[in-house]
This record gives sequence, C-alpha cells and structure tokens, in this order.
Amino acid sequence: DAAPADRLPRITVFGTGYLGATHAVAMAQLGFDVTGVDTDLAKVEALAAGKVPFYEPGLPELLEATLATGRLRFTTDAATAVANAEVHFVCVGTPQMKTSHAADLRFVEAATTAVARAMTHDGVIVGKSTVPVGTAARLREIVAREVAPGVAAELVWNPEFLREGKAVDDTLHPDRVVVGGASPAAEALLRTVYAQPIAEGSPFVVTDLPTAELVKVSANAFLATKISFVNAIAQVCEAAGADVTVLADAIGHDVRIGRQFLDAGLGFGGGCLPKDIRALMHRAGELGAHRAVALMQQVDEINMGQRAAVVDHAVEACGGSVLNRRIGVLGAAFKPHTDDVRDSPALNVAAALHLRGAQVTVYDPQAGDTARATFPSLTYATSAEEAVEGTDVVLLLTEWEEFLRADPTQLAERTRTPRLIDARGKLDTDAWRAAGWTTRTLGRAA
Ligand code: NAD
Repeated sequence: DAAPADRLPRITVFGTGYLGATHAVAMAQLGFDVTGVDTDLAKVEALAAGKVPFYEPGLPELLEATLATGRLRFTTDAATAVANAEVHFVCVGTPQMKTSHAADLRFVEAATTAVARAMTHDGVIVGKSTVPVGTAARLREIVAREVAPGVAAELVWNPEFLREGKAVDDTLHPDRVVVGGASPAAEALLRTVYAQPIAEGSPFVVTDLPTAELVKVSANAFLATKISFVNAIAQVCEAAGADVTVLADAIGHDVRIGRQFLDAGLGFGGGCLPKDIRALMHRAGELGAHRAVALMQQVDEINMGQRAAVVDHAVEACGGSVLNRRIGVLGAAFKPHTDDVRDSPALNVAAALHLRGAQVTVYDPQAGDTARATFPSLTYATSAEEAVEGTDVVLLLTEWEEFLRADPTQLAERTRTPRLIDARGKLDTDAWRAAGWTTRTLGRAA
C-alpha cells in the first residue's frame, strides 16, 4: 500500500554526490523525511556527521539545520531505507565511458535494481541522473523484472538542472520541474513533493519518458553550443582586431540571444557539459540523427581547441618552449564557486604544460585538494602570491573573485617576468598593464 494520505511521502535519495546530497538536504528542508543512500561509506559517514564532502556554498549550513530536525539521515543500507519510503530518487553518476563517448549506465542500473529489489510496498522510482534518451524505458524493464510480486513500482523521469555553486537555490527554486512518464497517481505524488516550488511559480512540465530525458540533455547541449559559438567568433575577433567581450555584450542585449554563457575564453568543463554532449553525440548516432552528431562534434572540438590555444599562448609567451620555465596557474576548478575538477579546463592546461617540461604551480581558493588528488604531480600553492613567485608567465584559468580583486602591482613584484594570459577575459587588463604586466586575452588581438 502507498503512503497513508495523512502524512507526507517519505523519500530516499540514491547517490549523495553533488546532486544527491543537495537534493536530500533540500527535500528535508521542504519538510520531508529523507534517507540519503550511497555505496561510499566515507561519504555517508561524513554527511551523517554534518560534513559536506565537497564545496558547495550554503549546503553545510542547511545540512546541519536539517540533520537537527531528525528528518534527514544517511546510510549505506539500501534495503532498510527503501522499506521505509515511497519515493525513491536516483541521483547516481553517469560518467563518460573510458573507451567511448557513451555514458556509463552501470551506476543507474545498479541503483535502480537495488531499489526495485528492496521495495516492500508500492512506490515510485524517480530518475534524476542525466541519461541518454531511451535509458528510462530499459530501466522500466529492470524494475518489472526485479520487483517482488504484488508490489507496484513505477519508474518516472525527473531530470535535474541545478548548477554547482548555486545548487541549493536551484533545488529549492527551480526554473522548472520536468516529469516524464508518470501515471496520474505518480504525477500527484510528485506534485506533493514539489508543492513549494510549484506554489512559488516554478512551471511543472508533464511529458513522456524520452522527452523528459532529452530535455535535460538538450538544455546542456544548447549551453555548450552557446559557449563554443562565442569561442568560434572569438577566433575571428582575434584575427580581425575586434573585441569579443564588447561584441558579446552588444549581441547579448538582444533578448532572443541573451548575455549569459557568451563569455569567450577557455571554454566549458566539469562533470556535466562535456560528457553530456559526448553522450548525445553517441546516442544521436545510434538513432541515426546525424545532424545532432555533427553539431555536437563541432561544439566539442571548438571547446577542446580553446584549451590547446591557451597552451600555445603560454608556449609563445615563453619564447617557443616552456621547458624548465616557471608557470603560475590561477584556478583549478572547472568554474568558480566549486571544488569540482572533473574535466577541468584549468587543470587540463596546467597538466599539458607540465608534460611539456614546465614547472607549474597551481593555486585555487577551494579546489586545491581535489586538484592534488587528480594531478598529484603538479605543485600546489596556498595563495596567488605563492603561485606567481618567480614565474615567467601567469595564467588566469578560473575566474574566482579573489583573482579579479588581486593587486596586480603586488603580484608583479613576485614574478620573474610579469606576463599574463587571461584565458577567461575577466581581468581589468588596463590596470594590470599599468602595473607593469604584458597581457594577452583570448578573443582580443595580441
Ligand atoms: P557524483 O559523482 O558527485 O555522485 C554520484 C554518487 O553516486 C557518488 O557518491 C557514488 O558513490 C554514488 N553511487 C554510485 N553508485 C551507487 C549505487 N548503486 N547506490 C548508491 N549510490 C551510488 O555525481 P553528481 O555530480 O552528483 O552527478 C550525478 C548525476 O546527476 C549525473 O548523472 C549528472 O550528470 C547529473 N547532474 C549533475 C549535476 C551537477 O551539477 N553535478 C547537475 C545536474 C545533473
């Protein structure tokens, strides 16, 4: 039997990474009884002790507050968690396969299987992970096979759009809630779960399974395309002596275009956009949708080309070779306000220069530890001053406010040669030049 009508549905959240931990805490904040489930015991223990194992502004405070209500707990015991709840969110990772562009669906399959097997009463399994279109239909077959006789288990898709760095706010106040493949009963249950955002005006989009899966993928594909578009135009700007920042501001005034995601520079990275456009490339190919494949290939190629261009600029700045040159790298996270270094353009550039024989020192306000765990062979500093000490060239690769506010005069004194490559186009290069630096900005003539 389903949840008694006199109380709110109880929730499990499978996967307590960037998405799942935030979702679990937000659901508890909305008043629900929530159990976060992960296979990673260290993560579960940290969260249960009130420690968020990654950097996300506002989440530690909200975790502490919701744990204190007694409505939120974390466990590795999937069976007990599922037996005590009716709504089961699947928030596990869908990384890129090591051997192809396809998404690795092992974790969603394992989590869905675990939920279905553990269900002792009727409930809804709600997929939130980003998956290739067609995945949910296959998961439904798994659920039908694994669930105990007499238990009604329905699988629906409810993709997540949160941004790292703004994850709490995005979860509590989403731009929209999309639900695919829900029966009237499951839809009603999700309307209960999202009652507060709906009351605040978040659109609630009801659709079928493949559309729900594809809404998420195409939202990310569009954002990636916008960034690669402006980077392609930036190359024209550099060659023609135009300024891509002024251009982006000017075209961005058109509401049909919009200014966001039009910052030329080092391009996108992180645990989502790169693997999502590659998974789309792969899936669209399987489906024979060749135009989408071609578009995504170009978007990816332009994006990766930006990283290569920054490496080239650094080599050029060092007179043709970076061998034994000291390079200071400001930023390691894939964007500001996160410690996430998955497919980080900044670390990718730093590692490429290290491979060419440069002595690379990296500083990031939050991502030092995650960066060190990923690339232990690089040198890590604990301040921007330390990172630029004795350097031949300094690269701004992640646009943290701390770097935008830095005093270029003080930093210049620490370098061997005050030479800057602003790969994010965010520094006041006039001020840096006045402080003695030579500067190079992507998307502007040298
Ligand atoms: P993550 O790697 O931070 O977290 C995934 C978690 O799932 C890990 O803690 C892992 O231990 C756990 N896990 C793996 N298998 C499990 C299982 N069988 N049972 C329980 N837990 C299991 O990944 P993430 O960034 O949170 O992303 C998760 C999904 O959400 C991906 O599909 C991603 O594309 C999507 N997404 C992420 C974001 C984001 O900004 N990070 C935004 C929207 C959507």
